[in-house]
Amino acid sequence: MPIEQSNCIRRFVRTCNDGWLQGWHERNGGNLTYRMTQEDFDVCEPYFNLKGEGHEWIDLGIKAPSLGGQFFITTGSGKYMRKVSIDLTDSIGIVELSEDGSAYRKVWGLSNGGRPTSELPTHIMNHAVRAQATDGENRIIYHAHCPNVIALSTIVEPDARTWSRILWKSMTECIIVFPDGVGVVPWMVPGGAAIAEATSKLMEDYAACVWTQHGLFVSGSSFDDAFGLMHTIEKSAQLYLMAKAANGGAEPAYLITDDQLKAVCRDFNVEPNKAFLD
Ligand SMILES: [Zn+2]
Repeated sequence: MPIEQSNCIRRFVRTCNDGWLQGWHERNGGNLTYRMTQEDFDVCEPYFNLKGEGHEWIDLGIKAPSLGGQFFITTGSGKYMRKVSIDLTDSIGIVELSEDGSAYRKVWGLSNGGRPTSELPTHIMNHAVRAQATDGENRIIYHAHCPNVIALSTIVEPDARTWSRILWKSMTECIIVFPDGVGVVPWMVPGGAAIAEATSKLMEDYAACVWTQHGLFVSGSSFDDAFGLMHTIEKSAQLYLMAKAANGGAEPAYLITDDQLKAVCRDFNVEPNKAFLD
């Protein structure tokens, strides 16, 4: 089977394209990584290539020993989500993490001297945190520039409780999709160790984090799971902004109440983050 037709590559490409179609990935905005299963590895490994230049080990600047030796599909630094489906090998690649989890090397793709996303250290750190928090189930880390989340972050304080309540109260099924709520990282310079650490600290408790005036950072056990979480949060932010604008800028009068949220959790057998409910 050509590597392009493997399940993991097809789903990766589909997710990049879905995000592009949603309007979340202007220019080279956003990035996606997937921690491969043994089955994915077996299908893709015949296509790995360590010959020629550009396959040397590169220091990550962080350490994730729990994921040492694992393989990740990643979008490329400076590459466009819009181009992934039409220029696959230039836009994405597969990297191997060193045994001690402190370095990576390219084993496939990013064919024109490309490098993995500059957020790779943030992604790997968060893969480690989420794998630990979910007994290894979590395999996706996805970052997008969702416009309504970014707009909302210009009018709401960067506080997890405030954000979670707004999102839960604007669309009934949100509390089922993210019962822990969302974490919020205050404005920070992207791409560095500081935002990686701040995000991974929050991802111990949340599957999703808002990056203030920047976008969203989510995790998931599958591409559908991660994309669905991103989509749900972005849509709820949009509904809140629409309702607020329609109400002349004042707080909407009929947001979902705390008692109604509790009733949803009871009937759907969901354990919400009680610290965020009154
Ligand atoms: Zn970004």
